[in-house]
Amino acid sequence: MAEEPDAAVSSRTERKALEKAKILQRESERKIFRLVGRLLKKPEAERSEEEAGVLLLHRDTVEELSKRQVRRNVLKRKQEEVFDDAEELKSKVRQLAVAVKQANHLVVYTGAGISTAASIPDYRGPNGVWTQLQKGRTISSSDLSKAAPTLTHMCIRMLHKETLVKHVVSQNCDGLHLRSGLPRHALSELHGNMFIEVCTSCSPVREYVRLFDVTERTSLHRHATGRRCSHCGGELRDTIVHFGERGTLEQPLNWKGAAEAAKMADVILCLGSSLKVLKKYACLWSMNRPASKRPKLYIVNLQWTPKDDLALLKINGKCDDVMRLLMEELNIQIPAYDRMEDPIFSLATLLQPEEVKSHTREVIAPPKGQEDGSDDPDEQADEVTSVQGGWFGRGYGKGRKKKKKAA
Ligand SMILES: [Zn+2]
Repeated sequence: MAEEPDAAVSSRTERKALEKAKILQRESERKIFRLVGRLLKKPEAERSEEEAGVLLLHRDTVEELSKRQVRRNVLKRKQEEVFDDAEELKSKVRQLAVAVKQANHLVVYTGAGISTAASIPDYRGPNGVWTQLQKGRTISSSDLSKAAPTLTHMCIRMLHKETLVKHVVSQNCDGLHLRSGLPRHALSELHGNMFIEVCTSCSPVREYVRLFDVTERTSLHRHATGRRCSHCGGELRDTIVHFGERGTLEQPLNWKGAAEAAKMADVILCLGSSLKVLKKYACLWSMNRPASKRPKLYIVNLQWTPKDDLALLKINGKCDDVMRLLMEELNIQIPAYDRMEDPIFSLATLLQPEEVKSHTREVIAPPKGQEDGSDDPDEQADEVTSVQGGWFGRGYGKGRKKKKKAA
């Protein structure tokens, strides 16, 4: 074995010693962190003199651990669902009712929270789609097709009919605003509508409203639905805007309508949205104006939102509860959802006989007396399929097997 020069040996020994010292130091730091952490958990009065001395000696560690605790608490508080008690809720809704009546141009922004009562799962939250998919569970497509507009959807439609609400901007893709009877010119579905597929080869863009979720084969950057335009033969695509995409379709996104509404708005009512995505759309918030010239903000949500500090009023309640009280306060009756009047049935383009097998999603059953042979809900209902991709699978679309079914 060749002899190593002394200098190299010594530098290697030094390096090793240095590394060892570092490891020992890290270990001792960890010990101190553990010790200080344990002591901090003890109520101050119960700490011995010696323990108090230890905390005094390691003041930096105490400070660092306290900072971490504060950060943890903030994060926890942001995720917690908070409920105003009945009395507080009533008094807050009374304030909201005054604002609704006095508003010149009230615009409503809605998120997943207004659809949870329709058994459309929330994206986040303990029963949210993300959580469910992460746990390897599936979501049944019948959950989607059986969903109907909630009380909140119906209240919003009514408030629009009474000209109290001028425009609705929604980040939901479930199509329930449309199905509540809200006119399309008063609606911006910023992230698309799961029932609408379009042909962008036709000019103007040709729209096909369907009675089923058209997104089963689509995912991030892959929007072809597998069906073709009956006019030009072009590929049809869904209207869904996935996380990380930019929606450019004129309809159903209707950005123009949303931006104009925001410009005119003097009051904005946010319902059931975490606002984490909506806050990024600058044109919705008039942030370029001085604070006193911006629309007054009212937020109804159980969890923290990044706009809470800017809101004139934050109502911690379920949307349906708040809207029921609001309509009572406004003395306006809440219309019940009536399947017979659901506009989707008159808007829908029925599939050609050879297209019926082009999807496996359940079909919304038309009201009695309006059945048509083209879409056969009974046949579709035989097998309960689970939903994995499409608008539900935001971010989960990767690696999903594409079901190829001959048209
Ligand atoms: Zn076409």
